[in-house]
Amino acid sequence: MNIHEYQAREILESYGVSVPRAGVASTPDEARQLAVEFGGRVAVKAQVHAGGRGKAGGVKLVQAPDEAAEAAAGMLGTNLVTHQTKAGGAPVRKVLVAELTDIADELYVAITMDADAKAAMVMASSEGGVEIEEVAANTPNKIVRHAVDPLIGLSPYHARDIAMKIGVPTDLVQPATGLITNLCRVFQELDASLVEINPLVVTTDGRVMALDAKIAFEDDALFRHREILDLEDSEQNDELEQKAHDAGLAYVKLDGGRVGCMVNGAGLAMATMDITKTAGAAPANFLDVGGGAAEDKIAEAFEIIVSDDDVEVILVNLFGGILRCDVAARGIVMGAQYTGTQMPLVVAMRGTNANEGLQILADAGLNVTTVGDLGEAATALTQVLGADGSNA
Ligand code: GDP
Ligand code: MN
Repeated sequence: MNIHEYQAREILESYGVSVPRAGVASTPDEARQLAVEFGGRVAVKAQVHAGGRGKAGGVKLVQAPDEAAEAAAGMLGTNLVTHQTKAGGAPVRKVLVAELTDIADELYVAITMDADAKAAMVMASSEGGVEIEEVAANTPNKIVRHAVDPLIGLSPYHARDIAMKIGVPTDLVQPATGLITNLCRVFQELDASLVEINPLVVTTDGRVMALDAKIAFEDDALFRHREILDLEDSEQNDELEQKAHDAGLAYVKLDGGRVGCMVNGAGLAMATMDITKTAGAAPANFLDVGGGAAEDKIAEAFEIIVSDDDVEVILVNLFGGILRCDVAARGIVMGAQYTGTQMPLVVAMRGTNANEGLQILADAGLNVTTVGDLGEAATALTQVLGADGSNA
């Protein structure tokens, strides 16, 4: 689960991390008032669950309250498109108005879970304010990594070492050490999956502070952080992903593809996407209906896949076990009737009641190509999508 910058900075503040003075505004007038409060020179920042706002016009540095109001008016009510949002962008309902900080140096600090290290990993760099992916690609030696001992936490001398390696001035190493330690506490105590400060700044008047704040939480741990659940802004989520989530279905939207994939099980999802690629096509999404879905769940899953505008053909790849193939087939027929779609289906069904399931699909008069295995599925997809199944 993601939260907004204005929420993340409040959490940071409560953990003793320095942030600029700021307030949140929902109207240009509120933005103006906040700017007056902070002396006129402020940063007006669109609140969306995505980074890259600076380059996309979602961060404006202004010198006077009227300019703050104007900047807010230009953002509020629009959809901000950044390289991290989907094509349509994300709706801006609030802006953060922050006292302008005079920056001497922009640094980078993030903490994320590292599967190889089986631990939280601090990643820090002297190259803040730019995309960290660029730093990783062009100058990987400029990224400092430190795996956090899960029992001990981040020791102060490690935090100090990190601060020095990213070029914090000597007289500010002590506050920077505290700041990095506190970021780790946020990560561990709140079960975050990401804490990212880009940029962490050294100010011209000799302070270190978090100028931007991104925190994401581990969904599976939210049950023990009820207060964090209240911070959710579902409007920022992908509409179909939200719908699937509410229905207890695992739906993932993927960029650039034309094949909608309905599967049961994560491993089958991976194999199905491989097959789609083999056919020279690409998945537009995959939806894992899981183990014991009932007919109406399957119907809803089908409806979600069809609602994805990128989908031109649906690949159904199910292994009947706890989920019986006849149940799945009835659900698909229900979904097809409900949506009225004529979209071609390529269907592989094996396992419990597979023949019955295929018969149900055939009897329903849907546009179905039945295949016996994934190789045949690839061939069928190529036929449906044309020789050039690619998505160029
Ligand atoms: P992002 O582009 O979504 O990551 O938004 P950020 O909050 O990181 O802002 C982008 C950039 O705007 C930062 O890297 C800074 O260079 C600049 N910026 C943001 N706030 C301030 C500020 O108070 N003072 C100055 N001088 N620059 C700022
Ligand atoms: Mn940033």
